[in-house]
Amino acid sequence: MGIKLRKTTAGPLFLPIFYTTVLAKVYILHLPWHMKEYNRLYEDTYQHKGLRKKLVDTLRTKGITDEQVLTAINNIPRHYFLEPAFDKIAYEDRAFPIGEGQTISQPYTVAYQTELLKVKKNEKVLEIGTGSVFQATVLAEMGARVFTIERQKKLYDLQQSRYVFKNKYPGIKFFYGDGFEGLKMYQPFDKVIITAAAPFIPPKLIEQLKPGGLMVLPLDDESGAQRMLRLTKREDGTYDEEAFEQFSFVPMLQGKNK
Ligand code: SAH
Repeated sequence: MGIKLRKTTAGPLFLPIFYTTVLAKVYILHLPWHMKEYNRLYEDTYQHKGLRKKLVDTLRTKGITDEQVLTAINNIPRHYFLEPAFDKIAYEDRAFPIGEGQTISQPYTVAYQTELLKVKKNEKVLEIGTGSVFQATVLAEMGARVFTIERQKKLYDLQQSRYVFKNKYPGIKFFYGDGFEGLKMYQPFDKVIITAAAPFIPPKLIEQLKPGGLMVLPLDDESGAQRMLRLTKREDGTYDEEAFEQFSFVPMLQGKNK
């Protein structure tokens, strides 16, 4: 039995030459595009910072007074949470689409809910509706340990892979699941925040709240919009209820979505 020699037409140097010339050229030609993507994600220019300051002033005139909340919003580049097309308008006080028919909440709404939640350092906060992760980031910037649940698999996967501040806020834990169920394994929570329109007050979320803990949620009302509520859990498991302004959220839906 002799050694079988493989016959190649291109010669032994074909592959090394192909890799060092053709592929390298393709890579170099695409480099500016990659760099642009990279810069877009991480560039927080003076213009962005200026627009953000203006947004914070707008929130102030609309009635937000908690300086901690305003500082957190001033510190977080909201344009990182949106597609590049929204870069210039990211600091308007508006909700924007983030895919899967969902939205990043309006900054005023985020500020309003956060203010009602009275977040303190190291508190355990359960958030229903991860969405763009902007609200969770505001809570983390204020020092909270955030447990956030998303029912849309695609959004959950996306945030797992590309959340910009993974290293900056290791205190945010992501979960794929149904917010109506909460997170039994991690209870009790100091605070619960629901960022989708709740058709009713989810009983399991009340159970998972500490006595004295607060829950902020937009609850469907008869007009088709939502009334912002703050519940304070009593020692006996019941709760006190305070009602605030009306808002408009995407619906809180039952079950998970693949
Ligand atoms: N907090 C988000 C707002 C997202 S909009 C942000 O800062 O961007 C509301 C989100 O709630 C959507 O992503 C929607 O998919 C999610 N959602 C709706 N019903 C849910 C449920 N039952 N459990 C978990 N997430 C839910």
